[in-house]
Amino acid sequence: MMAERRRSTVRDLRRDNRSVLLWSLFFSQPCSRQDLSEATGLSSASVSNVIRELISEGIVTEAGSVDSDGGRPRVLLRMNPAYGYVIGVDVGETRVRVEMFDLTMTACARADYPLDPREHGVDVVAERISAGLGSVLADSGADPSDVLGAGVGVPGVVEHGAEVLVHGQTYGWDAIPLERLLRPSTGFPLYIDNGAKTMGQAELWFGAGRGAGHAVVCLVGSGVGASVITGGSPGLGGTSISAEWGHTTIVAGGRPCRCGSRGCLEAYVGAEAILERYGLPLPGDDEESSLAALVDAAATAPRAAEILDETALYLGIGIANLVNLFSPGRIILGGWAGLMLGERLMPAIREATRRHSLAHHFAETSIELGQLGPDAVALGAATLPIERFLNGTAVMRNPSLRADGRAMLARGSPGTPVQLSRSRSASGPARRRRPAGTARARCPTPCRAAG
Ligand SMILES: [Zn+2]
Repeated sequence: MMAERRRSTVRDLRRDNRSVLLWSLFFSQPCSRQDLSEATGLSSASVSNVIRELISEGIVTEAGSVDSDGGRPRVLLRMNPAYGYVIGVDVGETRVRVEMFDLTMTACARADYPLDPREHGVDVVAERISAGLGSVLADSGADPSDVLGAGVGVPGVVEHGAEVLVHGQTYGWDAIPLERLLRPSTGFPLYIDNGAKTMGQAELWFGAGRGAGHAVVCLVGSGVGASVITGGSPGLGGTSISAEWGHTTIVAGGRPCRCGSRGCLEAYVGAEAILERYGLPLPGDDEESSLAALVDAAATAPRAAEILDETALYLGIGIANLVNLFSPGRIILGGWAGLMLGERLMPAIREATRRHSLAHHFAETSIELGQLGPDAVALGAATLPIERFLNGTAVMRNPSLRADGRAMLARGSPGTPVQLSRSRSASGPARRRRPAGTARARCPTPCRAAG
């Protein structure tokens, strides 16, 4: 009994060391064993043991060396990009975007499917997602068994119970079992979460939120949401929750909102609402080009300038509420409309925020634009399977999937989930991998994230 407990304690310790090293390497690659030892506080012997295990499993690879002050050159390590892939899905207002990344977060393939803003039926969206998953697999040349998982960022509240349910009130989605709907067309784990939360995670990991212990990331598109991040950096146990910020009331009895209420923030600063408030014809056949035209027109047209001034005021009031509620230290404005408005209106937004928040909290808060552009939702969704992988809690499909994965994708057979063992080196790799040197078929996009 004692011996058994001691063995399991040793095992847990190794597993924790492994996860700590994977998180550290993921964010600082390429780096040496010495760098990892210094960054994690683990002994050089522990680092060497775990890295040997990770190299033998093909997860980590050596990537050249650097001179060290007079001593032996230090070998650099990095995640093996070809070990596995992750997919991020952004279910937006006007399109479904599916993007595949390797283990260094280099984009490998992308598929976009337009959505009619008046038609957000769950069948249509699920069909677009399934088509996108098949498309990025085909374009990248990756095999379904090489995919560690796919994250899906959706609008609305995501309930993680016995079954994942999506409550997308503005889409007319009432307790939609999206994972169950997608399962027949995928052979890998699916992780579904709120799109503002996935965007927040992207900015926290790779963008304007790096190094922030506490932050709120605001997603302003046609809809409006936020992600509240507390408690530290990635891998250190921080948490983020999605907040339905867009449906907090800022005007009693104000404009009707898509959620059925009145006076919501989204009914004033969401792109659709801004265009409705303007009310005059604008060039462009979609919301993005129409809002861009409105921003351009503000330089010469008083009515357009007035609408944007009001928008900055409403947005500032909304942000001030976040400052007063959370005193987050850092607020990041993102989403395609948030970025478009923020580039022009940031001084006015900051001033409106200052006027409506408590002076102490405001003084401690910076308000910044997101750094990852409007595509951060898909990138952030792809961090959901990465997070499980680095923690060692990813669920892998049966390795036999590799042999008939494409057939399965076509057939819609679900496969058998098995727990990804973190002591795979003892019994050999749990899944077959592409031989070294035959990595990604087509991965032309340069790395834009990890590093
Ligand atoms: Zn609302």
